Amino acid sequence: MAAEYNATVSGRVEVAPGLIILRVVPDKLPFEFKAGQYVVLGVKASAPRVDEAEGESEPSVVAGARLESPRLDSPGVGAAAAVAGTAESQAAVDAQAAAISGAVVDPDRMIRRAYSIASESRADEYVEFYLTLVMSGELTPRLFSLKVRDRVYVGPKAVGVFTLDKVAPGKQVLMIGTGTGLAPYMSMLRSELVCNGPRQFVVVHGARFSWDLGYRTELTGLARHCRNFHYVPVITRPAEDVTWRGRSGYLQNVIASSAIEDETGLPLTPENFDIFLCGNPGMIETVIGWAEARGFVRDKGHDIGTLHTEEYW
Ligand SMILES: Cc1cc2nc3c(=O)[nH]c(=O)nc-3n(C[C@H](O)[C@H](O)[C@H](O)COP(=O)(O)OP(=O)(O)OC[C@H]3O[C@@H](n4cnc5c(N)ncnc54)[C@H](O)[C@@H]3O)c2cc1C
Repeated sequence: MAAEYNATVSGRVEVAPGLIILRVVPDKLPFEFKAGQYVVLGVKASAPRVDEAEGESEPSVVAGARLESPRLDSPGVGAAAAVAGTAESQAAVDAQAAAISGAVVDPDRMIRRAYSIASESRADEYVEFYLTLVMSGELTPRLFSLKVRDRVYVGPKAVGVFTLDKVAPGKQVLMIGTGTGLAPYMSMLRSELVCNGPRQFVVVHGARFSWDLGYRTELTGLARHCRNFHYVPVITRPAEDVTWRGRSGYLQNVIASSAIEDETGLPLTPENFDIFLCGNPGMIETVIGWAEARGFVRDKGHDIGTLHTEEYW
């Protein structure tokens, strides 16, 4: 059965150009999830796109033809996925699908992608997301054009194993994220941080500019009030952000410095910490290399490890 809208936008906060916090109220509440999980969001192909996004070619509305996020519940596009990635290959896929489907143009096709939930798992009034605009993207230019009271699709079930479940008692948690890769950590902190409790939490958040550091006020306040929470914001373009007095550079360099030990008083070892990595695959790969050389082991479902990852693309 075709997916239909089943939720309403209740809030939209502009963090910076190309970055928003979106709140959505599912028709059916409570919406159950574990902090750190993600869910599918969807908007129909006929929905408007923000003006600043790149143009979209006509074939992208051919039913079932366009490549959806490969890890999702999109219709059978397995063969398409292998060749997608260029304008030519997508056109070939579109043409092939059009031939098969009889070229049915379907403005009702639901475009769907995965998004980490940023809200607290116990709060049942809304579900919050932290989104970045991909100019050439299919879904985000439509998500960015949503207004309060607009309708949206939310997948029926939150999924994912990027949660705090497997962190052994007595261990500290280091959360490293780029851009909107902060989202699952917001949910974890809002749901599971015990202020001044025994477990230490460190958030290392990377963005290009200080104004792109979403949730900074909330995290700075949390760090002021809870001595077991540490917030390490890092920007990559300090030359264009002249008032910034904090850390700059790549996250991997910050991790390799003594920053975490300085914050927590503990060496960054697998005996002391579990490391979470979320967002940019390049950052994740680099930090994995560094951490594995120091004895951290990747979590692989049944084989519980001390390195947990969530790649966004
Ligand atoms: C488990 C999971 C959780 C996710 N959670 C979030 C989240 O909380 N917030 C969020 O903004 N995104 C999140 N994403 C990414 C999201 O699913 C989409 O891929 C993204 O929003 C782009 O969708 P699109 O349809 O606009 O672009 P598409 O048409 O799907 O893709 C355009 C291209 O942009 C690239 N791309 C995708 N995401 C980014 C990005 N963030 N920055 C730069 N390039 C990118 C991809 O390589 C892709 O080829 C998550 C992805 C996964 C797998």
